[in-house]
Amino acid sequence: MVHKDLQIPSSQPWPDAAQTLLALMHAQGEVARLSERVQLFSSLLVSVNAVLWAFDWEAKQVLYVSPAYERIFGRSAGSLLADHNEWRDSVYPDDLENAERSLAEVLHKGAVEDREYRIIAADGRIRWISDKCFINRQTEPGQPVILVGIAEDITEKKQLETELQRLATTDVLTQSSNRRHFFDCANLEFEKARLQGSPLAFLLLDIDDFKVINDTYGHPEGDLVLQRIAECGRTALRRGDLFGRIGGEEFAAVFPGCAPDMAKQVAERLQREIQKLSFSHDGQTFGITVSQGLTSLTAEDVTIHSLFARADTAMYEAKRQGKNRVVSG
Ligand code: GH3
Ligand code: MG
Ligand code: MG
Repeated sequence: MVHKDLQIPSSQPWPDAAQTLLALMHAQGEVARLSERVQLFSSLLVSVNAVLWAFDWEAKQVLYVSPAYERIFGRSAGSLLADHNEWRDSVYPDDLENAERSLAEVLHKGAVEDREYRIIAADGRIRWISDKCFINRQTEPGQPVILVGIAEDITEKKQLETELQRLATTDVLTQSSNRRHFFDCANLEFEKARLQGSPLAFLLLDIDDFKVINDTYGHPEGDLVLQRIAECGRTALRRGDLFGRIGGEEFAAVFPGCAPDMAKQVAERLQREIQKLSFSHDGQTFGITVSQGLTSLTAEDVTIHSLFARADTAMYEAKRQGKNRVVSG
């Protein structure tokens, strides 16, 4: 059926009419192609697992949001189009300032690709979102500034990163910091203390006659001893203190802001807590003791290693004096 607007006026000479008809057929073809494209883009937008959005910066009006919004944010797209504060409401409160600041940054940067924040989805669960945003380059001068963006759910990636970070920094057996992580953190605290001129203490702890424990009760029982000592270490220390397993049966601690007297008290408390531990194996009950070497930051210390060396010497002095004691050096 030909639409009445498309009818060729009878007064028109034939070649002109033919040309008009051809032009109209061409236009109809274009419309069909465009509608095919629209359908293609619509199905792409439905299946892609990312939210595409467009936002009029001055009018503070969400112009477009793709179907994945409802799936990822768990909220109605209609409500977001009606009021952009819907987006603010979904952002995890601690991350809102950062999320808004990074959105505003796009105005002078043109693109912000490292924008991440958490949202509280409708089911109450927290999800991590990577929400890259760009200024729409097609905006003419004097025209409204349109921001466009692509928001993806990166929760699984974040969880994996956290787990990898934990595995890289933790000793598997005792769940304490491993040697490398302990010294990385200890170095930071050392630099901070030197800069601020604040006190800092360094402690080394070595289990007494641990070889005998392994030989008498077996390696798995020895592992249990290591785990229990690590628990004692974690509970005896204060917030901000560092604790790590730096060798087979050797642990270390750093007490930032802790004067020598106070550090000695903490070490003695730890000594008592460890002495209180009781183990039983095949009906036999046994306890353990440790030797500790303690030292404090002085003006001569340029790296953490001189503290480590002094604590090590003090710890060996504790062994030499008969073990089961704290020696300061
Ligand atoms: P000292 O009182 O002089 O410190 O003697 P010690 O027996 O504690 O010290 P030594 O260095 O001779 O022995 C340490 C032992 O620690 C030897 C090693 O088999 C054991 N060890 C190291 N790592 C582990 C571990 O992960 N699990 C267990 N069960 N034993 C370990
Ligand atoms: Mg040792
Ligand atoms: Mg030992």
